[in-house]
Amino acid sequence: MSRRGARALPKVGFVSLGCPKALVDSERILTELRAEGYLISPSYEGADLVVVNTCGFIDAAVAESLGAIGEALAENGKVIVTGCLGAKESGSFVRRAHPKVLAVTGPHATAEVMSAVHQSLPRPHDPHTDLVPAQGIKLTPRHYAYLKIAEGCNHRCSFCIIPALRGDLESRAVGEVLREAENLVAAGVKELLVISQDTSAYGVDQKYRTGFWNGRPVKTRLKELATALSGLGAWVRLHYVYPYPSVDDLVPLMAEGKLLPYLDVPFQHASPRLLKLMKRPADSDDTLARILAWRRACPELAIRSTFIVGFPGETEREFEELLEFLEAAQLDRVGAFAYSPVEGAAANALPGALPEEVKEERLARFMAAQETISARRLQARIGKEYIILLDELDEHGAVGRSFAEAPEIDGLVQVHGRVDGRPGDLLKVKITGATAHDLQGIPL
Ligand code: SF4
Repeated sequence: MSRRGARALPKVGFVSLGCPKALVDSERILTELRAEGYLISPSYEGADLVVVNTCGFIDAAVAESLGAIGEALAENGKVIVTGCLGAKESGSFVRRAHPKVLAVTGPHATAEVMSAVHQSLPRPHDPHTDLVPAQGIKLTPRHYAYLKIAEGCNHRCSFCIIPALRGDLESRAVGEVLREAENLVAAGVKELLVISQDTSAYGVDQKYRTGFWNGRPVKTRLKELATALSGLGAWVRLHYVYPYPSVDDLVPLMAEGKLLPYLDVPFQHASPRLLKLMKRPADSDDTLARILAWRRACPELAIRSTFIVGFPGETEREFEELLEFLEAAQLDRVGAFAYSPVEGAAANALPGALPEEVKEERLARFMAAQETISARRLQARIGKEYIILLDELDEHGAVGRSFAEAPEIDGLVQVHGRVDGRPGDLLKVKITGATAHDLQGIPL
């Protein structure tokens, strides 16, 4: 780099207070700053801005931290506060004492601090995006993208080995998730598909702590994350949501048009005994009552689910219970599997493994029952008007999806007639016909 370029590099002053955990946070932020090409300044005057990592453990530490912030403001003027004191009263405590600070974050908030730094001091070099685009490398088409909000799972469903492979739930920092979503939308993504192993559990592992995004406090919890995502201007679709009571809070956001009125809820079965054997989350709740309540709150809600038939010990009566549930629940889209043992899964040790032909016969009955329901529900949509997101276009028409169809797993809306536009554009259509899985429509 030329000498002129080197002189232009921005400098960040850093004050690190507090315990070893705070020190590790400081190291992470400093590492990130250096990786992005910022210089670190040992003094206030030489710096373009100052980061103060605070402590809030005892009164003396609070006073020392407030003093350091005040000094940095007086000497430099541009100050970002992070650390334990920053989390007090969701940042208001620090802002009350020092209203001029640029941003306040809590501890373990490297992503939020970096985002605050970027706002005041553009990064000289981004080791990530200089090599790859800001939205990362995506395998999906340009107009939709999966947004993974957590890894691992706290449940121990007896047929599943994901927790053994990926560990317990680890939610991503809310600021980091939102920054990724912003980058995706800026890169042209029109539909964000929120995923994890157990999306409704987002933030449980972090005790729903307050994170920061663009200087604003946001709790690490699905409702708050979904609300923030809904402001980005893209469709937001939730996958792998379990029927916990907390999901009831999301449905009003769907009714208000902030989130797509779509829930992907893997119910897996309806028999309480089998759900217990499967060790499913929310096994004892009255799922049917919950579905009815969701539909009351948001009548157009589309529900997708997956089921396992032929689980070890499933009796004919329990299977019929599942068919009765299907009839009562009237789900829009359903996938099903005949149970097959996965190496290492606890369910393999359960007594009562069913013969393959019984499992296959139940799967066929299950699919036939659901096909009738899905077809009836699709028929009921004929004559209605929807906004669809276009996936593909050619000279004969286009293919797209309404709020009720997720990409890859649900059906499609086939549009007949000339359509001008590109994948990712929205189009208003009138539904004119339906098959077992797909809808036909004309542009309006
Ligand atoms: S199936 Fe159960 S254990 Fe496996 S990832 Fe889903 S909730 Fe977790």
